[in-house]
Amino acid sequence: MAETVLVTGGMGYIGSHTTVEFLNKGYNVIIVDNLGNSSIEVLDGIYKICGQKPVFYNVDVTNYQQLSSVFKSHPEINSVIHFAAWKAVGESVEQPLKYYNNNLGGMSNLLQVMQENGCQNLVFSSSCTVYGQPDVLPVTEQAPIKEALSPYGFTKQVCETMIKDVIASNMSVRAIALRYFNPIGAHKSAEIGELPNGVPNNLIPFVTQTAYGIRKELMIFGDDYNTPDGTAVRDYIHVTDLALAHIAAIERLIESRNANDFEVFNVGTGTGNSVLEIVKTFEQVTAQKLNYKIVGRRAGDIEQVWADTAVAERELNWTAKLSLADSLESAWKWENNYRKNIEK
Ligand code: UDP
Repeated sequence: MAETVLVTGGMGYIGSHTTVEFLNKGYNVIIVDNLGNSSIEVLDGIYKICGQKPVFYNVDVTNYQQLSSVFKSHPEINSVIHFAAWKAVGESVEQPLKYYNNNLGGMSNLLQVMQENGCQNLVFSSSCTVYGQPDVLPVTEQAPIKEALSPYGFTKQVCETMIKDVIASNMSVRAIALRYFNPIGAHKSAEIGELPNGVPNNLIPFVTQTAYGIRKELMIFGDDYNTPDGTAVRDYIHVTDLALAHIAAIERLIESRNANDFEVFNVGTGTGNSVLEIVKTFEQVTAQKLNYKIVGRRAGDIEQVWADTAVAERELNWTAKLSLADSLESAWKWENNYRKNIEK
């Protein structure tokens, strides 16, 4: 019988791409999402790609009663992927309690409901922000967890610790935290993609909106970093590759191939690219000219980070396959498709 996976936050950017890959692999998917940073139309996009829709509940993971009743209605749920969380670094500095209530409250609720319903497998969406600016690059899973630079980053650290603590207390859950680097791009069909609210904070949506003419110019935050061209360096991973890492993680847990009850894996490409390299590659693959100017550094940004992916490759038998050019091309295709649809 097909396995059933509950995806919290499954209507969001990474969640929707992960849902598609699970449906394509024959899993049953149940989504709980409060649509706080996504829209119901995402279900249509998933349907166009997969020819089926996941079961959807408009439920907030911080609502114990509602989350509990989803588990009671679906005793077949034995695996959960937990995405549901706020994710804007800047906003988290302005409204820390929004982040603590939702990201920590949701995690706590979910662990409790999983425990009460005997649900065993958990994959948690963590982030490379837990490393801060690493002393050694590429960064391995063994690198020390540095003091968080934002409430958002802090919630990722605390959620990892919460999972570890409940496992240590003999709760029968096995968990994998995937530490994402910078997810970008969109499904190759351009039916789903990243949908930022208002002015994008992240680089790639800002780039595609600028190329489309919605923004006047991209501001590159700093060219005086200690990097080859002076702009900051990140490890940009295609969201479909990232989605596939969740399948590898869930299958490791379902098949009891995990070495410990709590494991962490870096999910990146292993390559760092500077902001200027992103701009150049985008211009090459899309034949678009991008207006940009260099401005000062953005507060809280680190200089450079990229992943050591050896452990994920070995243990999850997973590796990123899509190139930076693939990622940027798909992001551009999505921007065009999305704009065409809303301008109709
Ligand atoms: N960045 C930029 N201009 C923008 C948005 C981002 O120069 O409008 C830079 C940012 O300073 C960082 C990189 O692009 O070096 C990636 O930023 P993003 O916010 O996408 O991800 P982060 O690594 O901060 O999570």
